[in-house]
Amino acid sequence: MSAEASLRADIVEVGRRMYARRYTASNDGNISARLGAERLLMTPKSVCKGFMTPDMMCITDLEGRKLQGERDPSSEMLMHLEVYRQRPDIQAVVHAHPPIATGFAVAGIPLDRAVLAEVLTTLGSIPIAAYATPSTAELPEAVRKYIKAHDGMLLANHGALTVGGDLFSAYYKMETIEHFATISLVARLLGRENLIAREEVLRLQELRGTYGIAAPAPICADPADGGGSGDGSAGDDVATCQLVQAPSGGGQRLVPDSPDAARASAGPDGKDAEIRLTYRQLSALIEDAIRSLR
Ligand SMILES: [Zn+2]
Repeated sequence: MSAEASLRADIVEVGRRMYARRYTASNDGNISARLGAERLLMTPKSVCKGFMTPDMMCITDLEGRKLQGERDPSSEMLMHLEVYRQRPDIQAVVHAHPPIATGFAVAGIPLDRAVLAEVLTTLGSIPIAAYATPSTAELPEAVRKYIKAHDGMLLANHGALTVGGDLFSAYYKMETIEHFATISLVARLLGRENLIAREEVLRLQELRGTYGIAAPAPICADPADGGGSGDGSAGDDVATCQLVQAPSGGGQRLVPDSPDAARASAGPDGKDAEIRLTYRQLSALIEDAIRSLR
């Protein structure tokens, strides 16, 4: 199978998975991937992503001119083109409307709290790009603010966008966002969301390097430090780092090194000694995340 035929088949498969997992309804969502240096392979407009065939895809150049295909390219092509322009490092773009994550996008609540180790190692934080009319030039404009520093974002009152070094990596990030949104929703319904300490977040960031996960940008300096605006924005309003809500633990780790350390850090009522995760469990979580990225 040629590289192009294989990529066409992979886009069909990703579309099928998105539809099966209810990340899209009807003809929603779109998928694209680089086909060499100058061309893109893209889903066509007005087709259900669950029932595509490889021959349906369009080939365009990087300006969006259709080079091949019976159908017209996705109505969100402008957003995809902008992402490829801003991120020469990425090979694929996935857009969908996963319902729980989109609920956060509708509520205006970014997924930027330090809650899950595997999310911190794979995506970091997930901001919300401002509302823009779908399929217009407003949408790429909104996405531009965050795309240099993030591999995934919510689109206000619309859906979610993920990018990756290959098609499945971009798709798995969409799964991660929806999974994270679901867990965050449950934790908030339960009335408690324990955050991972900033020191641990930085440690997890270092692990990215160890596992060979390319992070588009570092975690922003703690806004409490007074370092910059704290919102990850640079002069022209483009985010250059990832804002993560993580309380400073005063140098303490969420997970003590050993049971002795846990006992030592226990308060009079013993409650502080409660261990949520062992390092073995934490490592297993991270390794799972890495496997899913490959
Ligand atoms: Zn959409």
